[in-house]
Amino acid sequence: MSEQANPFESLQEQIDDASDYMDVGDDVLTRLKHPERVLETNLSVEMDDGSVEVFKAFRSEFNGDRGPYKGGIRYHPNVSRDEVKALSGWMVYKCAIVDIPYGGGKGGIIIDPDDYSEDELERITRSFAKELRPFIGVDKDIPAPDVNTGQREMNWIKDTYETLENTTEPGVITGKSPDSGGSAGRVEATGRSTMLTAREAFDYLGRDIEGASVAVQGYGNAGWIAAKLIHELGANIVSVSDSSGAIYKEGGFNPVDVKDHKNETGSVTGYPGAEDEFSNEDLLTLDVDLLVPAALENAIDGDLAEEVQADVVVEAANGPLTPEADDVLADSDTYVFPDILANAGGVTVSYFEWVQNRQRFAWTEQKVNEELERIITDAFDNLVETYEETGAPNMRTAAYVVAIERVVDAYEESGNWP
Ligand code: NAD
Repeated sequence: MSEQANPFESLQEQIDDASDYMDVGDDVLTRLKHPERVLETNLSVEMDDGSVEVFKAFRSEFNGDRGPYKGGIRYHPNVSRDEVKALSGWMVYKCAIVDIPYGGGKGGIIIDPDDYSEDELERITRSFAKELRPFIGVDKDIPAPDVNTGQREMNWIKDTYETLENTTEPGVITGKSPDSGGSAGRVEATGRSTMLTAREAFDYLGRDIEGASVAVQGYGNAGWIAAKLIHELGANIVSVSDSSGAIYKEGGFNPVDVKDHKNETGSVTGYPGAEDEFSNEDLLTLDVDLLVPAALENAIDGDLAEEVQADVVVEAANGPLTPEADDVLADSDTYVFPDILANAGGVTVSYFEWVQNRQRFAWTEQKVNEELERIITDAFDNLVETYEETGAPNMRTAAYVVAIERVVDAYEESGNWP
């Protein structure tokens, strides 16, 4: 991955690009490019051996014009203030493009969770939840899972908040396990929106997804579910990868078998059915019909983009392409369907979870999936309509035009508070 691209600068460039295709003043634009506030905190946590370790953590609340701040919490050694700011900004525009009533936020702890025991991770998570307590709330800021966090961490955060507030408030956080107030369909939601975006994209481009060759970079929650659901549409998942490397099979993998292998061994590499193994860069430059980056940001920079041979890219990860990569791929007529639509299923079903928590009434998985499909296909239609109307150079810029217009409308309707 490229070391140079700063994701926060990428976000700002994406907003600037979109502003060329819409009527928005510089003052409003400046507001749209910076977070409203960022919490930076140092968590002092007791380790199993009695020593105390300090972890730096952040929560960025980027924009709340359309509703409470919403966005995940990431545990990763590369978490930084700028990464969290960028991710929180992408959440604003993601919630706006699928038209759900949220602003954007994001949090993270600089940590490699593999280095800590479950008890230590629980204490670290609860310590962060204690720091977050004044900021979060069912109508204020609602965290969710992201890289290296999941139902377990969300349940701990909910419990810490509820204990400190002496209440029951499951809607303070989403992505919980079902018994703690989680929604049916939440675990699959991100990959499902990637599949729906790929399906609509192929249909829009007049291509057949059945029989299409597909490469998926990253085999975590977003990537593996996307692979499974795209495979169910009849596509061939010819290559998948994780941080250990990529595997390849010309006739396509059964994604469930590969996932079982990863669960057993910790990696997709070494899968007995693979015909070849290579690097992640090799996967990203395969000659496939569809490429799904589903790992981390900056996977494809301008140089690597010169070598990308896929016809269509659907982004499951947040920010996997740098702005330079976008320019290169637009010039080579590669269609890139952006993260803020293609992985919006996660936040959309988080929204359903929050609605269910507030109603104290659980929906069926069928209802969740139907509502998600309606929201993603409507958003896709709005996106391509704007792409055609504005003459924007790529789908990302068109997506930001749709999203920014909605945020600006909410801001201007509310007026400015001096
Ligand atoms: P995850 O931790 O479940 O999985 C990440 C995967 O990427 C793992 O398989 C890991 O091995 C792999 N990976 C890490 N570095 C890699 C590299 N250099 N090359 C190839 N693979 C690499 O995380 P996730 O939840 O699937 O998130 C992945 C991306 O999707 C992130 O950008 C995240 O922000 C985004 N996303 C996730 C959700 C969600 O609901 N989980 C929602 C929206 C967006």
